[in-house]
Amino acid sequence: MSQSIGLGFDPDELREKYRRERDRRLRPDGNTQYRRAAGEFGYYAKDPYTPRVEREPLTDRVEVLVVGGGFGGLLTGARLREAGVDSVRMLDEAGDFGGTWYWNRYPGIQCDIESYVYMPLLEEVGYVPEWRYAPGEEIRRHAVAIGRHYGLYRDAVFHTRVTRLRWDEDAAEWSVDTDRGDAMRARYVVVSSGTLSQPKLPGIPGIEEFRGHTFHTSRWDYGYTGGTQDGGLTGLADKDVAVVGTGATGLQVVPHLARDARRLYVFQRTPSSVDVRDNRPTDPAWAASLPPGWQRERMENFLAVVSGENVEHDLVHDGWTATARLQRKMLTGAVDTTLDPEERERLDELADFVKMNEIRARVDEIVNDPSTAESLKPWYRYMCKRPGFSDEYLQAFNMPSVTLVDTADHGGVTRMTESAVVVGDAEYEVDCVIFATGFETGVSGVLSGTLPVYGRGGTPLLETWARGPRTLHGFYTHGYPNLFHLGSLQNANSVNFVHILQEQAGHIAAVIAAARKTGARYIEPTPEAEEAWCTTIRESATDNSAFLAECTPGYYNAEGTRRQATTSYSPGPVAFHRILAAWREGDLSDVLVTDTSGIPAATTNLHDHEEG
Ligand code: NDP
Repeated sequence: MSQSIGLGFDPDELREKYRRERDRRLRPDGNTQYRRAAGEFGYYAKDPYTPRVEREPLTDRVEVLVVGGGFGGLLTGARLREAGVDSVRMLDEAGDFGGTWYWNRYPGIQCDIESYVYMPLLEEVGYVPEWRYAPGEEIRRHAVAIGRHYGLYRDAVFHTRVTRLRWDEDAAEWSVDTDRGDAMRARYVVVSSGTLSQPKLPGIPGIEEFRGHTFHTSRWDYGYTGGTQDGGLTGLADKDVAVVGTGATGLQVVPHLARDARRLYVFQRTPSSVDVRDNRPTDPAWAASLPPGWQRERMENFLAVVSGENVEHDLVHDGWTATARLQRKMLTGAVDTTLDPEERERLDELADFVKMNEIRARVDEIVNDPSTAESLKPWYRYMCKRPGFSDEYLQAFNMPSVTLVDTADHGGVTRMTESAVVVGDAEYEVDCVIFATGFETGVSGVLSGTLPVYGRGGTPLLETWARGPRTLHGFYTHGYPNLFHLGSLQNANSVNFVHILQEQAGHIAAVIAAARKTGARYIEPTPEAEEAWCTTIRESATDNSAFLAECTPGYYNAEGTRRQATTSYSPGPVAFHRILAAWREGDLSDVLVTDTSGIPAATTNLHDHEEG
């Protein structure tokens, strides 16, 4: 008997269609198809927003050095200040705070998670976002406001990259080298360098031959396009423009380019799913009615809903919360244990087919030209790629000046010439090529090796982790005292990653505060506690390999090469945060090393540098 009876579609047919669509996109070169925005392509990654100012190298000492000035770093700085830590230095490669919101300033940029749960510390800073999904500039300004509110500019250094961290056992502190020739010292180092920070370019043959104008969306050239993040790109009125890439960024940028360029060619390899956005200004009466503690409650509620927890009321009620069940497995590995695994998988897959059918039907409803509509339909499971939301993107393809160029049969853009983008035999002459081609994954931070860390006895961290990362709760590793990591590794994950960062920042600040209070010599997990956590991570892990293998290539599955999705705590962020809270109730003897023989205690005032 056909499974399609009563469903209105045939699951076998859909499964087969997904496989065909995946297979025509799989490339043998996987992740190596991309080019780094470095060396001869280094100009793609240069900071167009803030001039670099020369300064003397620093050789001073702080209590806490925070590497990264995005929301992870800012939250850590804020929580440390609240815990009474005065000597905090923030450090970032960018020219100011904001992290991804510093770099990404393209027209149309917007938060794709509701801003009331995404933008951190709203109550602390005394702010309510103006829009439900805030524009990027509002978010960037909020990052700056956090920096000001907590006095984090005081010792901050920008346009600076850490090149080496070395533990000095005698002084019980870290020695920190940077690309500015600094040789700073810090008792504690917190690494929050983000995951998607380095722009990447497609390895299109002839990319360097192109003589027109070109840039990456994360370094938008308003000098060329005119206008602002709100649009009005008057410089493009007499230009034919190509945009390569249709991920979350492409979705936001295309409507503006469509409006303002003379001609727009959108080069698509895999279409995104594009669901309803329904953005709206914040209702002032609602904002005025919010009781103290409202943001934490809303954030907790959103996290619980999208993590598949049983929640009575869905406070956010948007496209993310509506698809919680589809996200749960991919992001956290969490599963509904009340069902037998096969039945669970069958129901999950059916729900996925229904959702994706709805997304595909929306394309037909909006896009007039049937062949363009066909190309814009995504054929894969909902969480194979970051789901997209827009009420303007699909509509842009109804404009006579906009052409969708489907490159799927050619594995992407074929080549570039001095004046054109070529797909197969067709050449598209353009004045400007804009790359919305995303970011390198796993290139920043300690795992990539770009930030070499030497612990006790000079042992490189990557040597200690040669057979896989080893941490307690994802934060710290035996042999690397007073060093903390933010991120999803052996910690938690969620689509609202800022929430995860907020929990991490609070935890780190609490542990440092406890070390100061007890005069601990340093913070370092015992080998036993670390081993126990690695075992917990391993034993609770759920296998995502089948799901990922079926997915169309993208950065979630390392272009079709990765078979295991996540190394975070599989039962999900809510369960993980409960573990952390319970652990903090204890005596922290897993990490507080109190042997003080000959070493200054952590309470010593280390703030002996000049204040800027
Ligand atoms: P993505 O990596 O998601 O998208 C890159 C795009 O470039 C894809 O469409 C890809 O196609 C395409 N591409 C790559 N190489 C080629 C080629 N050779 N020829 C043609 N096309 C090519 O990057 P984004 O910048 O869009 O998004 C990255 C992440 O940043 C998001 O997933 C999200 O997490 C975050 N983000 C969040 C936003 C927010 O509002 N919070 C907004 C924007 C981004 P293919 O899919 O076939 O590989």
